[in-house]
Amino acid sequence: MRVFKFGGASVKDAESVRNVAEIVKNSPGKLIVVVSAMGKTTNNLEKIVNAYVHQKGDAQQYLEEAKDYHKRIVQSLFEDDYEAVWDQINDIFVEIEWILEDSVHDSYDYLYDQIVSVGELVSTTILAYYLSKIGCSSTWLDARGVIITDETHRAGVVDFKTSQEKIRKAIDRGHASFDVIVSQGFIGSTPDNNSVTLGREGSDYSAGIFSYCTDAESMHIWKDVPGILTADPRLFDHTTKIDRLSYREAIEMTYYGAKVIHPKTIKPLQNKSIPLYVRPFDNPQSEGTLISSEGSDTYPPMIVVEPNQSLLYISTKDFSFVAEHHLKEIFGLLSSHHIKVNMMRNTAISFTVSTNTDEAKINRLIHDLQDRFNVVLDQGLELITIRHYDQLTIDHLKEGRLVLFEESLRNTYQMVTKELPTLSRKK
Ligand code: ADP
Ligand code: ASP
Ligand code: MG
Repeated sequence: MRVFKFGGASVKDAESVRNVAEIVKNSPGKLIVVVSAMGKTTNNLEKIVNAYVHQKGDAQQYLEEAKDYHKRIVQSLFEDDYEAVWDQINDIFVEIEWILEDSVHDSYDYLYDQIVSVGELVSTTILAYYLSKIGCSSTWLDARGVIITDETHRAGVVDFKTSQEKIRKAIDRGHASFDVIVSQGFIGSTPDNNSVTLGREGSDYSAGIFSYCTDAESMHIWKDVPGILTADPRLFDHTTKIDRLSYREAIEMTYYGAKVIHPKTIKPLQNKSIPLYVRPFDNPQSEGTLISSEGSDTYPPMIVVEPNQSLLYISTKDFSFVAEHHLKEIFGLLSSHHIKVNMMRNTAISFTVSTNTDEAKINRLIHDLQDRFNVVLDQGLELITIRHYDQLTIDHLKEGRLVLFEESLRNTYQMVTKELPTLSRKK
């Protein structure tokens, strides 16, 4: 049994859905197909949440736009039979209408999950109907019945034991009669049956959970790129594909911000030695990149850019050394405010930490630190990580940038930089 994952870009319009259906239909053996919301649907559903919670009045309009977008896809895919399918899709959107009719009395995160989860429910329903239409033996599985998390809305922590039992039962039942099971990425449910999401871009992780829980023979993520490249092709020219990558390399790249795979995806696969293929959906014959325990003997320099970095300079107020008890206190606060440490360094009287910019979290941290420490915040920065670095690549990336903080370890070079304001002649 293999697990396929298709992201938003691979189901962004009717043509893409047809392409996904062809890939699935032409893949022999039992499959679990995990799918994200179509195109930018999650962003659009987030707009509904914000408009509703902050009572801006345009929530209903955003909902109509989301419905129209899906309706056009359904019309194109099903032509004469479109109304029957659209009725089913409309019923799913009705869940949002009911929420919008009510006044806001639940938490933002709870409401977010109830509204945003609709994106994946809709995309998978459309794909499942289309697979049946083209004669592919398939069934639809509600991920909320099998992926069980705690109560942390927007970042559900998966209960692997319970999920495994439920997934195995559901898959055995489904695969007894059908070759293909279509399910949602990104969503699950709490023990009280409330919808929950696993964090933005979490569909890759969902596919990892399905793979782990079913001991899949392999997992395949279908992308709009030829595989894992030496850098994000949206930011760099002359990137090249890496044919083989170890789990370790993949987890290091994604942890520091490579947007190509969700960082939580690798662990469940590594734990069961399940190979992961990152493959292009516009060239299904290609193997793409294979991520496994073996990897390669040598790697070219691989670049990861994480924009929106903040640097916090924390120093003692009375010129006393930053000693272990200070560090204990600082780390305690970093942990309780869920601040992800990307780089850190201490000197005699200061401690510097680089983290992804999240205004609310950082402000709460500074508030708590300020009693005991002086804190200076620098924002609008970029964290650049180079795995398997060489001097040429470092020099090239430093051009036009001011380096505020840099560090190199065996295979990893990192720097926090900001754009250098250069003098230029007025035209
Ligand atoms: P999906 O919708 O399938 O989740 P994403 O847009 O999240 O797809 O991920 C694919 C994108 O990841 C690519 O279009 C590319 O711009 C970006 N990306 C970032 N780093 C890399 C990399 N090292 N190799 C390939 N793609 C990368
Ligand atoms: N649809 C969700 C998002 O856009 C999950 C995913 O695509 O992985 O974040
Ligand atoms: Mg993604």
